Amino acid sequence: MIVNMSDKATEPEIAHVVERIREAGYQPHLTRGVERTIVAAVGNGRRHEIEALQAAPGVEKVVAIAQPFKLVSRQVRPERSVVNLGGVAIGGPGVVVIAGPCSVESREQLFSTAQAVKRAGATMLRGGAYKPRTSPYDFQGLGLEALKILSQVRETSGLPVVTEIMSTEDVDMICEHADMLQVGARNMQNFALLRRLATVNKPVLLKRGPSATVKEWLLAAEYLLAGGNNQVVLCERGIKTFETEMRNTFDLAAVALARDLSHLPVIADPSHGTGKPSLIAAVSRAAVAVGADGLIIEVHPCPERALSDGAQSLDFAGFERVMKALMEPLREVAGAPSWAEVTVAQA
Ligand code: PEP
Ligand code: MN
Repeated sequence: MIVNMSDKATEPEIAHVVERIREAGYQPHLTRGVERTIVAAVGNGRRHEIEALQAAPGVEKVVAIAQPFKLVSRQVRPERSVVNLGGVAIGGPGVVVIAGPCSVESREQLFSTAQAVKRAGATMLRGGAYKPRTSPYDFQGLGLEALKILSQVRETSGLPVVTEIMSTEDVDMICEHADMLQVGARNMQNFALLRRLATVNKPVLLKRGPSATVKEWLLAAEYLLAGGNNQVVLCERGIKTFETEMRNTFDLAAVALARDLSHLPVIADPSHGTGKPSLIAAVSRAAVAVGADGLIIEVHPCPERALSDGAQSLDFAGFERVMKALMEPLREVAGAPSWAEVTVAQA
């Protein structure tokens, strides 16, 4: 249930509603919008007591939250959330590009990649230290050594870094070295990990599971918000379908849908989403066109020598071409008025 306070509600009136929600057996969650305050009653309590708050002073309307994901829902927070880290704002007016290798392999590899992607316009660096590999015989990541390299390169390049976390045991160590923690697709429903990450003071990049519905993805995000961490960025990275020509099927509409249903920023991963360097420019442009707040792209100094995901990684020149393609205006619809005319007509 949510209690929409009137735009004239006083602080004592808001505090009273918060108290009554607690008394009714729910957890109160306050969202202070530009115009009004919304108090959500989350959990399992006595619903009729919340409905009765319709009569409390300062209350405009008590309504049910339509979706099972409560705190993630735009009903609770109509304004879009912005996640800030190291001077980068994800969910603001600009599109944030995160780039870097699938795995951190050496200081030289990460250092040269950071320089190249920064020059091309990326504002964040990615690099895996702990890798979720399908086969136990594949490269598993350099672990702590990679985290130290990430820290060093973060210092020299000034780019905030994101790296994947696979286990609750690694939380403290990774928090020491990274600006953002990635929950990979395979761990989207690792509830113990989500519960632990809900308690850290670091943003979380939550990838959609390869077989997860949008509802399951948003419910996974709900674990983080319900536990107290609202610095969450969603990432669409492709799902499993009957298609075999691409590594995954990038679910473009899910980017738009997640932004429709939720106030959280949503970014797109065209690298894992397609598995094909040749499709990254097109899918990146499409994702931005449907509203993506950012992109995460795999870049390697020499993809053919990469220890993981070389086949889908761009080299430096390829990444630069993708960045240039992103800056190009979208094609106009044949016969339609130009954007300038549309803007003037609406003014
Ligand atoms: C990755 O980012 O390298 C990765 C393993 O991603 P995903 O969890 O989406 O497969
Ligand atoms: Mn990868």
